[in-house]
Amino acid sequence: MNSIDKIELIGMNIGELEDFASRLGQPRFRGRQLHRWIYVKDTSSFYEMSDLPRQVRQQFDDRARISIPRVLKQRVASDGTRKFLMEMNDKKRVETVLIPQSRDLNGRYTLCVSSQVGCPLRCAFCATGQGVFQRNLAAHEIVGQFLGSRRELKRRLKNPEEPLITNVVYMGMGEPLLNLTEVIHSIRILNDPRGIQLGQRHITISTCGEATGILRLAEEDLQITLAISLHAADDQLRDELVPINKKYPLAALMTAVKKYVEKTGRRVTFEYIMLDGVNISRKDAENLAKLVKPLLANINLIPYNEVDGLLYRKPEAQDVQAFCNWLKAAGLNVSVREEHGGDIEAACGQLAVKQS
Ligand code: SF4
Repeated sequence: MNSIDKIELIGMNIGELEDFASRLGQPRFRGRQLHRWIYVKDTSSFYEMSDLPRQVRQQFDDRARISIPRVLKQRVASDGTRKFLMEMNDKKRVETVLIPQSRDLNGRYTLCVSSQVGCPLRCAFCATGQGVFQRNLAAHEIVGQFLGSRRELKRRLKNPEEPLITNVVYMGMGEPLLNLTEVIHSIRILNDPRGIQLGQRHITISTCGEATGILRLAEEDLQITLAISLHAADDQLRDELVPINKKYPLAALMTAVKKYVEKTGRRVTFEYIMLDGVNISRKDAENLAKLVKPLLANINLIPYNEVDGLLYRKPEAQDVQAFCNWLKAAGLNVSVREEHGGDIEAACGQLAVKQS
């Protein structure tokens, strides 16, 4: 059987893997064994599954595949951030970024996953948005980024039994709410207490303002964090920076966010990329405060990471501080995001891949 015609096992939960084993005439516990090898041990070869009899490994290999994406390239930044270039079965490529939560490189990591190959939203400041949108990623390809990254990390660290990746953020390439069904499926697999065991509160979805998706997400009864990439607090500027604003202007976006907060009871985060001379004046701070204050939200300021070929510039440190102080003075809960991986183009808004 051609590998592409085989059944993909990543993305199946324990019950589905038991059903798979059962359909092949095997006892259901074989499905539980598969579950452990895939989601706990990051194994993609049936032949490494040492507690399965040899003929069962062969039988599974004939019918199924475990497609952990291939890591084609890996770059490590001076702060320990790792950027992986990952290749899917159809040769499409995405970038995935592992960010250490401290300088101790044997510590814990946050993984930034991609949800699409390219992105159709074409935000003006973003490297991904300048390329061609190719397709959505399937849930197994999103979970595969987690398994592939963790496997690489374990290979390189001294104590591979530690919980290595403790947070996942859907902030890589693509707009996750345009691929919501697969994203939610992937979250349920990441969250499975018998497998990867990632707590929902350790998962963040970031959207550029797909208001319909925000309302759909509110119905899912998830305890994840929603981050909204705002970047401008008036429609004229936001139309320019984040073109989806023409479809969902600020009033529509804020109505959707308000409904989300009412339904889930969760505090949301607004992200604001700071572009020198573009969106960080005192007036911008006043507009932002007026827009966000009624919502009891956090604001995360992100000084811009420059992208080759784009004209936007990173602001000076004193301008970042002044903008932050204006927002704090208006009573908002503000933080400035530390840059990670800027020296390997792995920072926020810098991900871009040339497809073969
Ligand atoms: S910022 Fe996000 S939504 Fe906008 S173009 Fe980049 S990847 Fe797409």
